Amino acid sequence: MAQTSSIEWTQSTWNPVTGCTKISAGCAHCYAERMAKRLKAMGQPRYRNGFRVTLQPDALETPLRWKRPRMIFVNSMSDLFHKDVPAGFIADCFAVMQEASQHIFQVLTKRPERAAEMAGDLPWPKNIWMGTTVENANYTCRIQTLLRTPASVRFLSLEPLLGPIPRLPLRGIHWVIVGGESGPAARPMKSNWVLQIRDRCLERDVPFFFKQWGGVNRKKAGRILDGRTWSGTPSLGGELQVEDKEVVVQSAPYYQRRFELFGTAEAVQPTAAKQTLEH
Ligand code: SF4
Repeated sequence: MAQTSSIEWTQSTWNPVTGCTKISAGCAHCYAERMAKRLKAMGQPRYRNGFRVTLQPDALETPLRWKRPRMIFVNSMSDLFHKDVPAGFIADCFAVMQEASQHIFQVLTKRPERAAEMAGDLPWPKNIWMGTTVENANYTCRIQTLLRTPASVRFLSLEPLLGPIPRLPLRGIHWVIVGGESGPAARPMKSNWVLQIRDRCLERDVPFFFKQWGGVNRKKAGRILDGRTWSGTPSLGGELQVEDKEVVVQSAPYYQRRFELFGTAEAVQPTAAKQTLEH
């Protein structure tokens, strides 16, 4: 488990499951697959099965041992709602997230239909955020499915953004992250696609986070869009106090109402970029 993560929109990663199978265009150059194969070759026991779906029950309770509150990306090396992950194990993960209420858990899936099907059997405390990936306009149906989960924060990861999404549905969505693909075979992302999404988020008061341009040298390409960084993030709740990253809550009347009970956001600094994960 990564105590710290260089992914710009989170602080740590927790992988009670590793491995996955490709499901859509955004998976073509899956970072998790590359890493899993590398770690297997290095003899890392957790990756003995390479990229095959593997439960990691001994990692289940790791977040309970992290006392300092943090934002945690759940299953950066897998997809919690993959069909090969037993429902009981998913429930166990949710129970841990519920108990570790000092943290915010960011669950991101390309399989929101299973999350929606199971939603009635899972706890949804305010510290569990649920997101889905939409890489181009062909996958916006995932957003409607995500709305069937009662998470207090529902978010979209538009990464790797592979095409324009002119009418991005934002009703019931509380956060949008955009990023370009990175790595040797990175597919290009056009600035007008990003600006269109940014403008739509601004119009609808949805926090907008621009993660990266991506490309072969993602560090060099950076994350400046239209002359500045965009680090919009939903308000954190009450006792949820995270450090080390910049959380900028965009002025959002809906948000202010939605998070009245949550209290105010914390000001934190972004960490240096070392890796990217495209779920
Ligand atoms: S990108 Fe995500 S959903 Fe696709 S194969 Fe990789 S881990 Fe699985």
